[in-house]
Amino acid sequence: MKKIAIYPGSFDPITNGHIDLIKRASKLFDAVIIGITQNSKKTAFLNIDERLKSTKSVVQEIDNIKVMSFDTLLVDFAKSQNAQIILRGLRAVSDFEYEFQLSGMNKHLNPNIETLFMTPAEQYANISSSLVREILSLGGDISSFVPINVENLLKAKMY
Ligand code: ADP
Repeated sequence: MKKIAIYPGSFDPITNGHIDLIKRASKLFDAVIIGITQNSKKTAFLNIDERLKSTKSVVQEIDNIKVMSFDTLLVDFAKSQNAQIILRGLRAVSDFEYEFQLSGMNKHLNPNIETLFMTPAEQYANISSSLVREILSLGGDISSFVPINVENLLKAKMY
């Protein structure tokens, strides 16, 4: 049976931290599906098309990666893609409580789907999409946090 993992998130925008995780996950699983949430409770800065296009463009050279959006329950999306694994990133202890709760709820909703956590390489542990957006809005340099085409898209959208 093929091991398929879903890596869900807002990816608003995709950062070098996400990419680090995706590259390492692609070596562990037969396929990794990046699932971009459409109906997150957060209001998105980039619309769903911009997030899909920019994410696709930065992962296109990695073999077994697919990028999709979804607006259903995560476990239902995973099932529809024959994925047995939900992959989430843990940067710091502060991520843990929310992620622990989320994985518990998902396990309750579908006990056949396992949540796995990965940590990024140390240099990416402080990167978050929300901080990237904040730094950009204050005119700061985001070039070490996101790929160049994502930086250009964000700047074009902001200014
Ligand atoms: P969400 O709104 O679901 O938190 P994000 O796009 O912010 O969506 O994050 C998606 C997943 O990637 C989450 O599990 C998050 O913890 C993880 N993540 C975010 N930034 C990083 C990073 N720098 N390194 C590793 N994992 C990360």
